[in-house]
Amino acid sequence: MSTADVIVIGLGAMGSAAAFQLAKSGQRVIGIDRHAPPHDQGSSHGETRISRQAIGEGAAYVPLVLRSHEIWREIEEETRQSLLLTCGALVLSPRQGAAAHHGKSDFLLQTAASAEAFGIQHELLDAAEVGARYPQLRLRGDEIGYFEPGGGLVFPERCIEAQIALAKRHGAQIRTGERVLEWTSTAHGVRVRTDLDVYEADQLVLAAGAWMPGIAGPALTCLALQRQTLHWFEAEEPEQYQADRFPVFIWIHGSGPEDLFYGFPIVPGSQGVKVARETTRFMSATADGLDRVVAESESQAMFDGHVAGRLKRVRSTCLRAAACIYTVTPDNDFVIDRHPEQPRVLLVSACSGHGFKHSAAIGEAIAQIARGGQTSGLASFGLGRLLGAGGQSQVPQQDRIQ
Ligand SMILES: Cc1cc2nc3c(=O)[nH]c(=O)nc-3n(C[C@H](O)[C@H](O)[C@H](O)COP(=O)(O)OP(=O)(O)OC[C@H]3O[C@@H](n4cnc5c(N)ncnc54)[C@H](O)[C@@H]3O)c2cc1C
Repeated sequence: MSTADVIVIGLGAMGSAAAFQLAKSGQRVIGIDRHAPPHDQGSSHGETRISRQAIGEGAAYVPLVLRSHEIWREIEEETRQSLLLTCGALVLSPRQGAAAHHGKSDFLLQTAASAEAFGIQHELLDAAEVGARYPQLRLRGDEIGYFEPGGGLVFPERCIEAQIALAKRHGAQIRTGERVLEWTSTAHGVRVRTDLDVYEADQLVLAAGAWMPGIAGPALTCLALQRQTLHWFEAEEPEQYQADRFPVFIWIHGSGPEDLFYGFPIVPGSQGVKVARETTRFMSATADGLDRVVAESESQAMFDGHVAGRLKRVRSTCLRAAACIYTVTPDNDFVIDRHPEQPRVLLVSACSGHGFKHSAAIGEAIAQIARGGQTSGLASFGLGRLLGAGGQSQVPQQDRIQ
């Protein structure tokens, strides 16, 4: 039986960052994943993730993303890979009406307020100014735009791969293709049983993404899963959509919760303009039961409902599509906290569709907590806010219809 200071279960966005930072800080780490990250079975695949510095989801996130950008630049230096591309980030919203995103009302104005509060460079633009800068967009004329030059995208698979490689370089034992079956508390720590072995450690980090509801037990009954789809549509003039002249964008074009889509420039080595919408419907299946095949009709609906008439010279030909899972809490904020009954267990989860940009700094914070450090930066993500009278977390208030 192998032993360690800390075992990390799940080596996706959060777990790879935690394993790297724990190992770097001198902890003996065992990292375990049932797949071989980076992979396309969870929540961290699909080539790109938006990163914004001013965070409309809440001020508590801003220090995390700012620190993550620093960490990715440090890792880029060390690994000679490009992880973060600051092509600019544009948020578009109707001028009238408080447009919501990720459960937060007035998303654009909250983003701008966040930028003001943290001194993040940005501009507020009217539709004419946005259209002049980005002629690829067909605007209605009543939009307001928030533009952040330091925003852009991260390459999730590369980030995960780099952090796992660095974790190993710092001495972590990485076990992939090994599935955790159960974890239990012992007199002095935790014991983890997998389909191949048994391990013991002083502390446990649970970072199993969409599998958290199964692995964390009653503490996380509040989590729900959403099947989200990504689509890459053909551009008539691909050079018009490359990162030197096109930003990442979030475009809120109505007042309903699904009246928005977001997209990316075409990144080197890829084809097609990647876009996605966000469904608010919950899956009835577990993560293992996710329908991974994206039907042509889903891509067609994505194109007709969002892309058509908004992105110029983008064809309805879908070159590629993928399905991916959001793990969400009732308030769309994260859970990063000690397990309510097992203080040696850290829960790192529920990144509710906006977690990747913060993951590098979350890994660093987890390493600090595991060493007994202060966690004030994570105070907003405590599980207590979601716990009901019986000590079980609250179930989201929505019917599960998918
Ligand atoms: C379509 C989509 C678009 C998104 N867009 C953005 C964006 O633009 N910007 C942004 O910041 N965020 C975005 N997000 C959110 C972000 O990608 C996620 O918050 C983040 O990737 C979640 O990481 P994770 O580590 O929690 O999960 P994962 O990366 O999925 O990792 C969980 C790992 O746990 C492992 N595991 C599970 N069970 C076991 C077990 N029993 N034993 C061993 N290992 C196990 C899995 O194999 C997996 O590798 C998006 C998410 C999706 C799905």
